[in-house]
Amino acid sequence: MPRVARPTGARIARSTSQSRATSPARSLLCSFPILMPSLASLFLLLLARDTTGYWQQQVSYRITASLDEPTGVLSGRERISYVNRSSATLRDFYAHQYLNAFRPGSRWAAADSAEGRDRFQHLGDPDYAFERITAATLGGREVRPDYPYAPDSTIAHWTLARPLVPGDSLVVEVEWQARLSTLPRRQGRRGRRFDFAQWYPKVVVYDKYGWEDHPLYPGGEFYGEFATYDVALDLPDDQVIGATGVPVEGDPGWEKAKVDPAQQIDYQRLWYRSPLPAPGCAALRVGAGRKCVRFRAERVHHFAFSLNPQYRYEQGRFGDAVVRVLYLPEDRATWGNGIAVRNTVTALAWLDSLYGTYQWPQLTNVHRIEGGGTEFPMMIMDGSAGIGLIVHETGHQYTMGQLANNEWREGWLDEGFTSFQTGWFFESHGGPPAYDGLEPEVLWLDLERWSEPVSFPGERYRDFTTYNAMVYSKAQLFYEELRYVVGDETMRRILRAYFARWRLKHVDEDALREVAEDVSGRDLKWLFAQWLHDTPLFDYRLKRVERHHLADGRWRMVVTIERRGDGRLPVEIGDGDTIYARATGEPAEERVEFVTAARPGRLVLDPRGRTHDYNLLNNREPRVLVGRGAWTFRLDDPTRETARRDRLVRAWLPVAWSNSFGGFTVGLRERTNYLGRYDRGLLVAALATGPGATNRFDFYGRWGNPIGHPEPRTETSMSAWSAEGRAGAKLSMDRSLRQHLDFGADPHVGFDALWMATTELGYLDRGLWDDAGSVEAGPWWSITTRHGATVLRARLGARGGVVYSNPGKGIVSPTRYDFEGFGRFTGEASVRTPLWGRTTLGLRLFAGGYTGASEPVRQRRIPVAGADPYETFTDPLLRSRGALFLRPDFYYHAPGNANLRAFRRDLGGRWAVSVNGELTRSLGRRDHGFLREASLMGFADAGVVDTLAVPATKPGRGSTFLYESGLGLVTSHQLGDLDWTLRFEVPLVVAPFQFAADSVSGKGRFAFRWQVSLSPSF
Ligand SMILES: [Zn+2]
Repeated sequence: MPRVARPTGARIARSTSQSRATSPARSLLCSFPILMPSLASLFLLLLARDTTGYWQQQVSYRITASLDEPTGVLSGRERISYVNRSSATLRDFYAHQYLNAFRPGSRWAAADSAEGRDRFQHLGDPDYAFERITAATLGGREVRPDYPYAPDSTIAHWTLARPLVPGDSLVVEVEWQARLSTLPRRQGRRGRRFDFAQWYPKVVVYDKYGWEDHPLYPGGEFYGEFATYDVALDLPDDQVIGATGVPVEGDPGWEKAKVDPAQQIDYQRLWYRSPLPAPGCAALRVGAGRKCVRFRAERVHHFAFSLNPQYRYEQGRFGDAVVRVLYLPEDRATWGNGIAVRNTVTALAWLDSLYGTYQWPQLTNVHRIEGGGTEFPMMIMDGSAGIGLIVHETGHQYTMGQLANNEWREGWLDEGFTSFQTGWFFESHGGPPAYDGLEPEVLWLDLERWSEPVSFPGERYRDFTTYNAMVYSKAQLFYEELRYVVGDETMRRILRAYFARWRLKHVDEDALREVAEDVSGRDLKWLFAQWLHDTPLFDYRLKRVERHHLADGRWRMVVTIERRGDGRLPVEIGDGDTIYARATGEPAEERVEFVTAARPGRLVLDPRGRTHDYNLLNNREPRVLVGRGAWTFRLDDPTRETARRDRLVRAWLPVAWSNSFGGFTVGLRERTNYLGRYDRGLLVAALATGPGATNRFDFYGRWGNPIGHPEPRTETSMSAWSAEGRAGAKLSMDRSLRQHLDFGADPHVGFDALWMATTELGYLDRGLWDDAGSVEAGPWWSITTRHGATVLRARLGARGGVVYSNPGKGIVSPTRYDFEGFGRFTGEASVRTPLWGRTTLGLRLFAGGYTGASEPVRQRRIPVAGADPYETFTDPLLRSRGALFLRPDFYYHAPGNANLRAFRRDLGGRWAVSVNGELTRSLGRRDHGFLREASLMGFADAGVVDTLAVPATKPGRGSTFLYESGLGLVTSHQLGDLDWTLRFEVPLVVAPFQFAADSVSGKGRFAFRWQVSLSPSF
């Protein structure tokens, strides 16, 4: 199945083979293609024979089944003939009943519950799927199965009454009832549509590891014994059927469903010459209005079928294989007119060129109920007919179908493999290399340490998302690296040899690796070990280049390479146009010498970007003055995050703002960015042009997340500034402790250390700042969790340090001190939860306190209204007296702390406790455009603060009670990568009103006031 459909924009050259009306019976019963006696084919023939010691069990199924459409229940009988071809004596027998995964109580349902998906765990009757054995005999003896993984019932087990010695055979007869789930997942039913998979008790594989009795989980799907299937179905006579195998008896309904009346349907009834055992359809004795259709398939490990009386039928051919497409009447434009047929034939042609001849008579492609796609032998069920999806699913006919791996044990052998060939398909049809889009995604997972070894069994991964990322994407990258190491031509020979040697057999890592080593003539254990069993990081650094001009005019180059990662891959050395040499990439330091006819340009390691090197910034040859120069300058678009894989992006933007003291201030801002995550920098240099300003030159610099020392799930930064009358420095660390990428709580811990000093009082808003500084540090913790649409947040922070007053003029503290210790503690918790309709309730609690012998300086008080001056310092619109958002006639709310939003921003004291409440009603929401959502909001806030913040309303009280409420309009906006919330609020009630932000005009408790904000309130 596909995780994501690959983009289908690439130009596809279509190679449809000529269609013949009917096919002859296959000329050879032997499945080996006739090989031309060339050296290459002799080589393939030799390889094909080299499966020494390999064996597989011999299994055949004879199934009769009848579907009752109104209840959706299928009643079946099967006779399994089993020959033990292993060298062990078997004492047990196991069967899959994988339909039982799609119901409450299964391990699948438990995995869904654990990862926050609601699917089968709460399905009631008649919606859930089931598969119930009603009678079973083994070797003629009636025995009920037991279920070793109960309450999961996807594995049935019997103890054999008589041990099955090597070479001995066993007949198992089972009667059962099965129903598909109405919630589709790799199977399903809807009305008269049925997508049957995993619908019969299926023999569990016994291989060199023993019985592969593995319950069905969301990760991993197929592993089956290659078998002969003889399936007779009793169905309503208007049903149209697509199935594994060929119809050998009865009418599958294609004649009435065919779109082109002139189409000769090729039923391939004679494909299997082996005599059909009686009684077949005769045994079913179908009733009136019903029909029997009998299919036969050989050397397949699963049998699937799909029913829909509405199906339309189209047919095509590639070589000996007939392509059947069944689609819905409304699909004419997307599936019809030969589109799906052509895409399926194109896929088969590509796969034939890659691996070799398709081994089965036909391939049926049906439009299933569920989106996406699932592969079955000789059959693919697709949610759409795009070329990317069809190439992926058809690819599984090879990797999974004919080269049958154990998907639970080694999912990378089917999903990663077919993702790889799909990427190569697009690349070889004019698209960009899949590597270029894939590799940065995988790199992010590797660097953030979300990656787990690709070789993990399905359910060992931390969650389904990680399983998908590793088994599809990272595994795809492994095949790309194998291709890079051995080269395209050898890679093609490996795929052909792998198919020639292992088709219609069970494969594993050893099988693929041994073929790759035989064909390439190289030891590849190191590559398989690193990429499948470990999660290494790669970084090569170009340390030194020596250039020697030889007497004959040529150049001898000596390049020294340093390996800084634990991962190893060969490294190409080249300049803009040419690859000159390949280093082994093995030693910690490696010298590579080569001679060139002309003088090479600036040398670069891995110029094609194929070594998964996380730091390409140190791959370039250093030059005088400019150094490595691995950067690119651009004009900054503030709404976009621009990142490049091979360069540091330095984006510059002219900026301007103003304040009372500095006047109009102009500056230049630089943002830097590598991979969107590393070397994050912000530099601002500005000049104040106001006539009276001193300290005109401003500087602010922040550097974060160095790629030289990447830390997973951690943001680090160091900053320093001398700007608008303040100087300081800060160190920050923020580490995410989340356990899963896409669900579960998101806890963070962090630590900040900060020094802030005042250097020029003229800039300061003296309501917010005293002439004092602080040196402080402390930890914080925060958490965000979601339960459905409810979001809970909490945050605790503590700071300790010393506060000092500047000696000389401007001391405002009544208790003069030079240095004094202090502590500052804040805590908050909030919830937003849907109430009814589109109405959401938000509640927030806050408590904060300051400890210290003297009265706190203004900038370290616990603010009543919102953010404190240190928090708003980085914003030039909130930094200095007279800045745009600090103007006396402008009411801007920067949220935070007690968040009593309508009060004066300069109010603050030793402590505050508050509660904020909001009722929000959404007026509409959309996921495109500038305006994403608009809501009406009613708010009410209340708090108790100390009398330093707001004087007591009655003398003698040690605290003051404040409250406010009003209405607002909240809109969410998005522009490029930038999103923000705009709040316009009307605080109608404020008490005590003398302390309201808008208290100038003698307004009372009830009055019209307004304020705006560019941030959510909490
Ligand atoms: Zn797939």
